[in-house]
Amino acid sequence: MLYEGRCHCGSIGYSFSTERLPGDWPIRACQCSFCRAHGARTTSDPSGSVEYCVERPDRLQRYRFGLNLTDFLICNGCGAYVGAVTEISSALLAVVNINVLHPCPSDLQGPLPMSYDGESIDARNRRRQSAWTPCRGIIPRMTRYTDREA
Ligand SMILES: [Zn+2]
Repeated sequence: MLYEGRCHCGSIGYSFSTERLPGDWPIRACQCSFCRAHGARTTSDPSGSVEYCVERPDRLQRYRFGLNLTDFLICNGCGAYVGAVTEISSALLAVVNINVLHPCPSDLQGPLPMSYDGESIDARNRRRQSAWTPCRGIIPRMTRYTDREA
């Protein structure tokens, strides 16, 4: 099944492909100050795939902090945080922020608070290799979303 998300103004979105039913998705609420600021709830599926679609490349903001391993993808038009990508051993891996799913499945689990403080780079990469979703890339898209919301 394919699940689509996009920022509020429609400039940046994703397609998340997973065989898991939404009620079985692991939903994580990272407690770092960035994720708390956005109220982020993320999910991933190592057997699925993600493609980020950028309709307005000028609005794609990549934000890095902490260990400097990860691009947090933010729309600089509407401020939404849509997800994150990292590269490990030449493989692109991603999580998606389920807050920007359209439509949002109704039967998602409550988020599990997570803290990754003090994790080494090696430990972080190993955890992500086992849990994050293979990412096909961040791809410019020329087509327009047809159902923009005000
Ligand atoms: Zn936006």
